Amino acid sequence: MAEVSLRKLRKTYGPVVAVEGVDLEIAKGELIVLLGPSGCGKSTTLRMVAGLETISDGKLHIGGRDVTALEPKDRDIAMVFQNYALYPHKTIRGNMSFGLKMRGTDTAEITKRVDAAAEMLDITHLLDRKPGQLSGGQMQRVALGRALVRDPAVFLLDEPLSNLDAKLRSRMREEIALLQRRIGKAMLYVTHDQTEAMTLADRIVIMRDGRVQQIGSPLEVYDRP
Ligand code: ADP
Ligand code: ADP
Repeated sequence: MAEVSLRKLRKTYGPVVAVEGVDLEIAKGELIVLLGPSGCGKSTTLRMVAGLETISDGKLHIGGRDVTALEPKDRDIAMVFQNYALYPHKTIRGNMSFGLKMRGTDTAEITKRVDAAAEMLDITHLLDRKPGQLSGGQMQRVALGRALVRDPAVFLLDEPLSNLDAKLRSRMREEIALLQRRIGKAMLYVTHDQTEAMTLADRIVIMRDGRVQQIGSPLEVYDRP
C-alpha cells in the first residue's frame, strides 16, 4: 500500500487553476521529486499534502487514511522550508523540541529524540545556540532535525537547499540522500534544480502548467532521444 496517495488533486484560486488532476503514489522509503519551472504548481501540490492549502477537489490519503480535510497537525507529516522557519528566540534544542512539546510528548522522550537527531545531523555542538548564531547550512540541518524528531510517516521538503551556496548544496544533497536511506520514510521534495532531482529522486515528477507531464526514474525522464 502506498504511504501517500494523491488522487486527481486540484487547486484553484478564483479563476486561476494552480494544480489540475495530479495523481501520484509515494511508497514507504521512496523519495519523489516534484520538478518544473516556477509557477507550474509544485509548491501548491506540496502545501496541499501538508494541509497548508485547502484541496479544491480530489482526495489525499496518508498511511491509508483519508486526510483530505484534516488540519496539518492531524496529518502524519513534517515539513522543511527553504527559509528554515526557525524560532529566533529559542535555542536549537528549543526549536527541535517545540513540536513534540506541543503534542504532549514527555520530556525524557523529547530529550532522547533530539539528542539522536542532533547526532545523526552532526549538530550536537549547536544545541544551546540560537539560530542567529548559525550558518545557513547549519540552520538547514536544524530544520531537518526538527522534522526528524517528529518521526512522521512523510517528509515534505520545499526547495530546502535553494538558499545555500553551490558547495554546501551538493554536500547537503548527499546528506539528505543518506538520511533518506537510513530512515526509510516517504519523502516529497520540491525543487526547480535538475541536478538535485537527478541525484536525489527515486522518481521524478515533471510538472507543467499545474499538471503532471511525466513521471519516471531519473534515467527514464532524462535518457530519452
Ligand atoms: P511553483 O511552486 O511551481 O513555483 P506554485 O504552486 O507556487 O508554483 O504556483 C502555481 C500557480 O498558482 C501559479 O500560477 C501561481 O501564480 C498560482 N498561485 C499560487 N499561490 C497563489 C495564491 N495564493 N493566489 C493566487 N494564485 C496563486
Ligand atoms: P509542529 O512544530 O509540531 O509542526 P506547529 O503547530 O508549529 O507544530 O506546526 C503545525 C504544522 O504547521 C506543521 O506540521 C507544518 O506542516 C506547519 N508548519 C510548521 N511550521 C511552520 C511555519 N513556520 N510556517 C508555516 N507552516 C508551518
